[in-house]
Amino acid sequence: MWPPKKGNHSGLPLPLRPHMQKQITQQNLNILLDSLIKEGIRVVAPHMNGGTPLYEPLTCSADMNTGQLPRRSAKEAFFPVCEDIMTYEKEGQKVTVTDIDPVRFPETVLVGVRPCDAAAIPVLDAVFSWDYKDEFFLERRRKTTIIGLACTTADDACFCTAVGLSPAETKGSDLFLTPLVGGGYVCETYSDKGEQLITNHKELFSDTGGAKTLPLAQPETGKIDLKKVKAWLDEHFEDPLWDGIATRCVGCGACAFVCPACHCFDIVDEGTEKAGTRRKNWDACGFWKFTHHASGHNPRDGQPKRYRNRIMHKFKYYDDKFGQTLCSGCGRCVRVCPVGIDIKAIIDTILNSEC
Ligand code: SF4
Ligand code: SF4
Repeated sequence: MWPPKKGNHSGLPLPLRPHMQKQITQQNLNILLDSLIKEGIRVVAPHMNGGTPLYEPLTCSADMNTGQLPRRSAKEAFFPVCEDIMTYEKEGQKVTVTDIDPVRFPETVLVGVRPCDAAAIPVLDAVFSWDYKDEFFLERRRKTTIIGLACTTADDACFCTAVGLSPAETKGSDLFLTPLVGGGYVCETYSDKGEQLITNHKELFSDTGGAKTLPLAQPETGKIDLKKVKAWLDEHFEDPLWDGIATRCVGCGACAFVCPACHCFDIVDEGTEKAGTRRKNWDACGFWKFTHHASGHNPRDGQPKRYRNRIMHKFKYYDDKFGQTLCSGCGRCVRVCPVGIDIKAIIDTILNSEC
């Protein structure tokens, strides 16, 4: 059944325990990925591109590099930066409009996905399958199997545990890998898709023999009381705090673009009067033009109002609408912000402010 009724997991309710537990060596994982590539399946994984870790399609398993959190999130596998959704052509009085068929998307295995990225994907399901079903997003979701990977390291910006997740969070993963001492992984399945992947390649997996898993990362952060944050936001649409926290924000939009949960986009026609393409391009509420009306009026006419929207959307509006928080604590926005704005510190400020 797709989209999932509760917007959770790959179409299945979250199980309390994994369906199946197996073990795989690193060598066999590489054999699995190479055989998938050979079968024509698109395998997307973290790898180094000019010194930058990114989730990108692989041509060979040896190119996978899971040593660092990719700089950009895994959402791009379902929601690319820019995509064509329609073309148009005008000849005399005749206009031809051609829809782009999402069915052309390839079967994909997205592997080495960090828990903060995987957990954000079912959160996005809610908005992309709500009043309007976004077939571009949903068709990619149907065709993608997500293999999550537990984190064994965290940096100062990571705060998944503060928003109720963890370095071993399996939400969003069809199959989940936990590294073993001495190499290889424990593999747990959390959906039919994950189980199918193991069943189709069962010779590469073995039963778990009680091997020890590596110690997991421990982000150094306290838990955020998300209910308390929301209660403050419910009452403080107007508050001097917004001016204080957003004075440094230059509206570059980098925080939204690297975020696994931000999902705003704009639809533009690019081309000429005679022919062109309708495109869906990422957008960000930090941009002044995001709410700029054709009349010239802009209801968010200053950066504090735009930054307020970012926080409100993540910790209040999305919760009001879908009962979920739009932040998985990946810390990317903290790492990338050119002026050092730290969303976790802002939430701490809210929690410590007088109500
Ligand atoms: S708001 Fe920042 S920390 Fe939260 S998920 Fe987005 S990029 Fe990661
Ligand atoms: S990355 Fe920093 S400066 Fe850029 S829009 Fe986000 S908060 Fe503002």
